[in-house]
Amino acid sequence: MVSITETCRDLSELTAAAQLACRLLFQECYKAGITDIFITETYRSQARQNYLYEQEHPRVTWTKSSNHTSRRAWDIAVAPPKNLYDLNILKKVGAIAKKLGITWGGTWPASQYDAPHFEIPANWQLPAGYKLEGTIIVPSNSKLRVQLIVSDKGQAIVGVNDGKLYRVQSGTFKTQAQANAAKAALGKHNIANPDYVRVVQDGSAWRFITGTYQTLQVANNAITEMKRLGILQYAEPVPS
Ligand SMILES: [Zn+2]
Repeated sequence: MVSITETCRDLSELTAAAQLACRLLFQECYKAGITDIFITETYRSQARQNYLYEQEHPRVTWTKSSNHTSRRAWDIAVAPPKNLYDLNILKKVGAIAKKLGITWGGTWPASQYDAPHFEIPANWQLPAGYKLEGTIIVPSNSKLRVQLIVSDKGQAIVGVNDGKLYRVQSGTFKTQAQANAAKAALGKHNIANPDYVRVVQDGSAWRFITGTYQTLQVANNAITEMKRLGILQYAEPVPS
């Protein structure tokens, strides 16, 4: 039982239609060049909704009847260095949502205005002309970026349902100290928990191997971040 003060950011807690809608929204945002948005809340228990309703400071909800409890709503925010609720970005996301039949809380009247909030009606369906074009990474923290991974060359995209976990294995570093520095950088940038990163000798060189990621996509996402931050040039995800 999740505490009423804790937020749930798990997309899989939403209805199948809402998961699809949310992924589609993030995909279309990605294609529009918006990659610095992330999920801050999905499902809320009615107990948590009631708790939030009672809060005056900060006032986070105007209703006891929210589609978060119906598993049809999600909230987003914008990653640094932009403001958490950068209205310029949220308006762009809202405009994309409108095209997809997704309701944006930024269109609601002043008393209900909720710019980070998105939801679908109970009868929402995939709008004509749209589909998921690959595996879309929907970040649930500000460190990760929205990604669209399109499988090609027959490469399998493996989801969490097959029960496999993935580690990231680095290419080799010349010294153990370099591998240890990379390990420390993974922790500093929240890409991997150093407690679970092993530095191992490989012949005369050294590698690091992370702890497990739940999906290949998340592992690949971590690799992208490692490369972007210059922690390493080469790495590969390996099932474990
Ligand atoms: Zn909301």
